Amino acid sequence: MQREDEFHIAVLAGDGIGEEIMAAGIAVLEAARSRTGGFSLAFDHLPGGAGLYRDTGEALSAQNYRRAGEADAILFGAMGLPDVRYADGTEPAPQLDLRFGYELYAGVRPVRAYPGAPLALADARAADIDLVIIRESTEGLFASRGKGIVEDDALARDTMVITRSVCERLFDFAFDLARRRRQRGRPGRVTCVDKSNVFASMAFFRKIFDERAARFPDIAADHHYVDATALDLVRKPWEFDVLVMENMYGDILSDLAAALVGGMGMAASADIGDAHGLFQPAHGSAPDIAGKGVANPLAMILSAAMMLEWLGHRHDARACRDAAVAIEDAVAGALAGGGALPRDLGGSADTAAVTRAVLDRLA
Ligand code: NAD
Repeated sequence: MQREDEFHIAVLAGDGIGEEIMAAGIAVLEAARSRTGGFSLAFDHLPGGAGLYRDTGEALSAQNYRRAGEADAILFGAMGLPDVRYADGTEPAPQLDLRFGYELYAGVRPVRAYPGAPLALADARAADIDLVIIRESTEGLFASRGKGIVEDDALARDTMVITRSVCERLFDFAFDLARRRRQRGRPGRVTCVDKSNVFASMAFFRKIFDERAARFPDIAADHHYVDATALDLVRKPWEFDVLVMENMYGDILSDLAAALVGGMGMAASADIGDAHGLFQPAHGSAPDIAGKGVANPLAMILSAAMMLEWLGHRHDARACRDAAVAIEDAVAGALAGGGALPRDLGGSADTAAVTRAVLDRLA
């Protein structure tokens, strides 16, 4: 029988730089765990990805898909290789299968300026950037995945799907998160990002947002069109707190926002549902640098911290939450120290040196 403080983690390192960054993530998790004590982690390493598909015809076996779902949390590296494709031209993407299959509707993408990491904006207020994009991750335009049609080489059609049941849970999640963030000094505001001036699906999205906002009177709620949001994420991103949006908008704007605070190597993320959580950097498998030992492991490490935070919250395990904070502090310390800046952030530290700098601060 599983003890309350013993968590089983399904590990899918995947393709490209996946193995390299996952090794860093697990080393940091182990160090944080032994620092705080109070819980243990058992890792179940599962094969999956485009490389596996090329070799076996299957990107993630049904058995391993099931094992991932049985774990307390899923830790994911990156999957996909641009030259490995299905006949219709799309890539195998087990991360999308897991998101859809396990109903991981809330894609949580924190965007935070760390002292020492390069900022894209010269304005001094860029140092205050601390926002979270919540990307709905099971429907929206992505509901059309695998179902889009091309007629007579003359017309193509993909359809946006928005459902009440997903929206209600998504917005409640966003307001809950804003409430928790307010406890650590953030404003407590959720912005609904949509295109309700044009699309019925988006007007419906906004209507449900307003209904759910009424249940959280202590949290401010406002709206922003997606095009204006792109503008303001560049003009004054420090003014945002929590932003919630449809899948495709979130896919695009979360990359834009990541560029504000150092790029994809800093882009941690979590895909959360009612019963499961998957944690992975938002970047891909970076085939251009795979095997060179130079990938920035910080997005992976920060995603691992998000996993501990989520486990700690879900299971009321204080030690887990403490370990998550310890990892975030260690990352902040390593960046502020300046000696371990990875190459994509303009430094010269390789994956091992960045990881060592984080581990040193956890020791
Ligand atoms: P990518 O994120 O892999 O790479 C884009 C650029 O960012 C590259 O120059 C890469 O070197 C750099 N980069 C990414 N992560 C980095 C890191 N940790 N450290 C340093 N530099 C980093 O995106 P892409 O090139 O468009 O996609 C490559 C493959 O990854 C494709 O097969 C794509 O489908 C897949 N992909 C997977 C995921 C996922 O697993 N969730 C997400 C996006 C893309």
